[in-house]
Amino acid sequence: MDISTYKKSILDVIDNNLKWKSNWEEFQTDNSLLLDSAKTENILEQLQTRLNKSYPFFHPNYIGQMISPPHQIAKIAYFMAMQINPNNHALDGGPSTTELENEVIEELAKMFGYNIWLGHLTASGTIANLEALWVAREINPNKKIAFSSDSHYTHKRICELIRTPFVEIPTHPNGKIDLTELSKELSKNEIGTLVVNIGTTGLGAIDDLQQIILLTKKFGVRLHADAAYGGFFTLLSKKNPSVVNPESFLLLNQCDSIVVDPHKKGLQPYGCGCVIFKDPSVGKFYKHDSPYTYFTSKELHLGEVTLECSRAGASAAAFWATLKAFPLLPDSGLGLILSKTIECTLHWNKLINNSEFLHPFINPELDIVTYFPATKELKTSTISDTSEKIFSLLMNRKVKPIYLAKYKASSQKIKLIHPEIIIDSNGVTILRSVFMKPEHNNYIQQLFNEISKVAKTLS
Ligand SMILES: *Cc1c(COP(=O)(O)O)cnc(C)c1O
Repeated sequence: MDISTYKKSILDVIDNNLKWKSNWEEFQTDNSLLLDSAKTENILEQLQTRLNKSYPFFHPNYIGQMISPPHQIAKIAYFMAMQINPNNHALDGGPSTTELENEVIEELAKMFGYNIWLGHLTASGTIANLEALWVAREINPNKKIAFSSDSHYTHKRICELIRTPFVEIPTHPNGKIDLTELSKELSKNEIGTLVVNIGTTGLGAIDDLQQIILLTKKFGVRLHADAAYGGFFTLLSKKNPSVVNPESFLLLNQCDSIVVDPHKKGLQPYGCGCVIFKDPSVGKFYKHDSPYTYFTSKELHLGEVTLECSRAGASAAAFWATLKAFPLLPDSGLGLILSKTIECTLHWNKLINNSEFLHPFINPELDIVTYFPATKELKTSTISDTSEKIFSLLMNRKVKPIYLAKYKASSQKIKLIHPEIIIDSNGVTILRSVFMKPEHNNYIQQLFNEISKVAKTLS
């Protein structure tokens, strides 16, 4: 979308909203709400100044955290729906955006291979996981919840919140759950639910669902997939040949619940998370009475099956419009965008595997790469110091700054993959990059050269 289409669309939204409003009797805005133009401009100028301190998430030289700009179509659609401000809690509040939400949930559910489902959007992946684990606890009230030590930090917090004991299962250095340890833990018959990671936040590691399902079936354990970051890569598992290891993705429909974040790899603004259950009857756990909502329709109101009350209908509108523009297909639409971010990783792999100044930490599976400088003294403390220096030098330079992220690995784990490293500190800080945007594709060589150059001068 070029800038003139974008500008025109925003102006059209305002005009069309005024036209829509004119269907009702005209009225005067109350004096208390009036704001003169000078004051408006002044406030917005101040705000712009404050916002200008942000990091350039939109730029290909930003390969730091898991943040990407929402697509213009999502921003316009969000802005459009926000003029009305629908609330998807109830059909009373969001009659049209509830329909949009049900349609996008259907598309996500089908992408994961569910034939029937119950699902909804949420404020975030955290809320979505909270709902999934709360329902899991209701189903297995006297059992523990297990998750791997590479899981998102919020799983521990969620278990504390729902007052459910948890077990952390050790992982391999590549971030995948240790199946031997898992099997040992499950055989104690104390675990009611296991969380599997389809793309960990740190390393992008995908747990081996095939082996895990054999174990959870044997021990009758409920399975929840945290695919907040990795879920959309399911599209690529349907490509032939697949550009991701398809096995775990193709088994997602065996999981009892799945969480995916459209605000991560789905081109959406925050907050747009999603939880989907395989068995719609779990809706019974949400049952509650609300004396002030649910009046306009006898049909199911989303608020009857969500933990949150008010939710932005604009999020559903934005995601719906985005999926019209970029459908959930393997070779076009969102699949094409995601396959380009995987290409970035493949290109990066080629470069780093031949590099004198940078070493890969692990072999990446999705679009997260971790690496460290090949310092002369291969000590964990030296690697940490040099990584910190590379990080800040690149970020703070005046010309062509590059934004990376850092990752704290355990010294024992790095030693397992790189036995030549000497451990002289508790943990080791290495570098981490996420290729969130397809535009990185044309910049990988250049980014790699720049990072290597700095690593060389500091090695
Ligand atoms: C980001 C993430 C979460 C948390 O989601 P938020 O939307 O940030 O609340 C949970 N799990 C995984 C694997 C994630 O990547």
